[in-house]
Amino acid sequence: MRDPRYDILFEPIKIGPVTTRNRFYQVPHCTGMGHRYPQAEARLRGIKAEGGWGVVSTQEAEIHASSDLTPANEARIWGADDIPALRLLTEAVHEHDSLAAIQLAHNGLHSANRYSRVAPIAPSSAIVDGDDPVQARAMDKSDIVAFRKWHVDAALRAQDAGFDIIYVYAGHDMTLLQHFLLARHNHRTDEYGGSFENRLRLFREVIEDTKEAVGETCAVAVRLAVDELLGSGGIQHDSEARDIIEALAEEPDLWDVNLSDWSNDSQTSRFSDEGFQERYTGFVKSVTTKPVVGVGRYTSPDTMARVIKSGHLDLIGAARPSIADPFLPKKIETGEIEAIRECIGCNICVMGDNTSTPMRCTQNPTMAEEWRRGWHPEIIPQVTKSDPYLIVGGGPAGLEAARALVQRGADVTLSEAGSTWGGRVTSESALPGLAAWGRVRDWRLWQLQQASNAELYLESPLEASDILEFGVPHVALATGSTWRADGVGRAHRRPLSFLDPARVLTPDDIMTKGAAAVSTDDPVVIFDDDRFYMASVLAEVLVDAGREVVFITPAPIVSPWSENTLEQDRIQRRLVEKQVRIIPLHNLADMSPDTLTLSCVYTETTQVIDCAKLVTVTSRRPNDQLWLDLISMKDQWADAGIQTVNRIGDCYAPSLIAMAVQAGHKYARHAELENEPQPLREDFGHV
Ligand code: ADP
Ligand code: SF4
Repeated sequence: MRDPRYDILFEPIKIGPVTTRNRFYQVPHCTGMGHRYPQAEARLRGIKAEGGWGVVSTQEAEIHASSDLTPANEARIWGADDIPALRLLTEAVHEHDSLAAIQLAHNGLHSANRYSRVAPIAPSSAIVDGDDPVQARAMDKSDIVAFRKWHVDAALRAQDAGFDIIYVYAGHDMTLLQHFLLARHNHRTDEYGGSFENRLRLFREVIEDTKEAVGETCAVAVRLAVDELLGSGGIQHDSEARDIIEALAEEPDLWDVNLSDWSNDSQTSRFSDEGFQERYTGFVKSVTTKPVVGVGRYTSPDTMARVIKSGHLDLIGAARPSIADPFLPKKIETGEIEAIRECIGCNICVMGDNTSTPMRCTQNPTMAEEWRRGWHPEIIPQVTKSDPYLIVGGGPAGLEAARALVQRGADVTLSEAGSTWGGRVTSESALPGLAAWGRVRDWRLWQLQQASNAELYLESPLEASDILEFGVPHVALATGSTWRADGVGRAHRRPLSFLDPARVLTPDDIMTKGAAAVSTDDPVVIFDDDRFYMASVLAEVLVDAGREVVFITPAPIVSPWSENTLEQDRIQRRLVEKQVRIIPLHNLADMSPDTLTLSCVYTETTQVIDCAKLVTVTSRRPNDQLWLDLISMKDQWADAGIQTVNRIGDCYAPSLIAMAVQAGHKYARHAELENEPQPLREDFGHV
């Protein structure tokens, strides 16, 4: 039963000529599946519609070969040949009475056009914003006329493909229309540059063109970045963004407003809270009568209802909350608030687009597996046999395996050695900024605690003999991993014999003892060869407790892999602000009683720094002793009634939390199958 406080979220709203059935709006977001995996893309979006999102959008759709983001895998609407693939998507969305929106995009100087080999275009001659040594040429008047026609043609193709809402997009510092708006990109001296009115001209014209072309049947939405967090160097919500919206207030049928660039728009929970964009987007409704949608990692129905009731937004925009739980609206509608799988704000999903691969989600292991594995986020077929299961280890892999098996109707015993559930998620969520990661544990535990077919045991370390005695047919080991203390990682592939074990700590030590692992006046050195978040959060723990911290990495920057989660800038800035001394491009070369010798990654040059304690963040060992013990007793399995033993998650191969959750889910999905089914592929080409 729906709580009447949330009724407002289910009120329909008119967007120009179309009406959305509720206030849940999946704003455009990348999936890494774009034009190369259209079936998978369509199924993913169809499931969002099934889950209750009244509007479901594509990712950005390149409108022309001069906007070619290859190898990124965006949607593409260069020509009529693209229509059938896009129609798969609109049909999947319409099947559930939702509206399909397409974000038409021309990427201007953001695209190097590596596949099409067309010279990029921009308001003024400029180098492209990626690393390619390629320049965009300045558009002349005929180019502007041509661009307007491309946009109209793409809008007509989108209409033909069945879209209900068509975007004009000026955001994320990666669209031609925004480049024209921004004085830093637009140095023109004709009527398309210079004054505010001139810089606005093309944007205004394209909105008008689009309305004229498709406005009778389709709504025309405008996506505008209202702040770039660059101060007076960029668009600001309280000056030029307001002027733009005032000038065009009633032109589009919908305003979709957010922050730019993408790292500001999709901030992680480490750096921002739910609703973090409200202070920037709050003004928009006061200058237009048209519906307004905005985002801010909204996962709480109370917050959503407040945002609409307070007149801040008309529609709750979501990318990540709809990825973590495609059925979020349905769950609010049916009063199953506790069942919402809340986004943890980790941005592993963003890695999909950044690495041009189908996205994964830490909370939702079915993400991007809807078509190729046939996985539905809410439905798993029941098991056919009554065999019980024993899962050893209550971290993300074990919790998800147990939860999904329980959902399938199997009897499950989950045994955890420690006194808390969650494994690494519990330890890591206690680190600075990572509290929301605890949701990975909480959601699964809550499901298990509701179930009558789950038995949960804390403080129950199991040995191989216990498991044999237990005599359960199917055993899954999810015993996790342990950080290494011998320096082995990418830079050093063999143990470093010079390390003094009494002075080396690992992330596990800091997570167990906190900053107390290092005494107050000891200079502590962190050696990061893991290259993601861990070393930087440990640096925060230590520096916040008053320790003097030096951060060494073989990489050229701190935490390079966090570029994929859009966090690298923020992480490095935070360490610099906290006065962590950063020494990039160095390996470990030697250790004396109170110093550490570093070696340059390029030359033989070394340097010596003070070091009382060294924290190595390099790689992990799988905790597979239990597995090895069980294997050595394999001849006793049959008598004990054991049929299968599997390893899942970090004890099999240490990886992302998302991968541990996925491994647990896959184990449960594939229980009872002789062989693991191979996922479908759509990359065979067209021969
Ligand atoms: P993963 O990410 O693969 O789920 P974690 O390290 O997060 O791995 O979780 C592993 C969990 O397994 C930890 O909570 C740990 O205490 C538990 N564990 C490890 N060995 C045993 C064991 N022999 N019996 C029961 N629990 C165990
Ligand atoms: Fe949220 Fe992380 Fe899932 Fe992305 S990967 S939707 S940030 S939980």
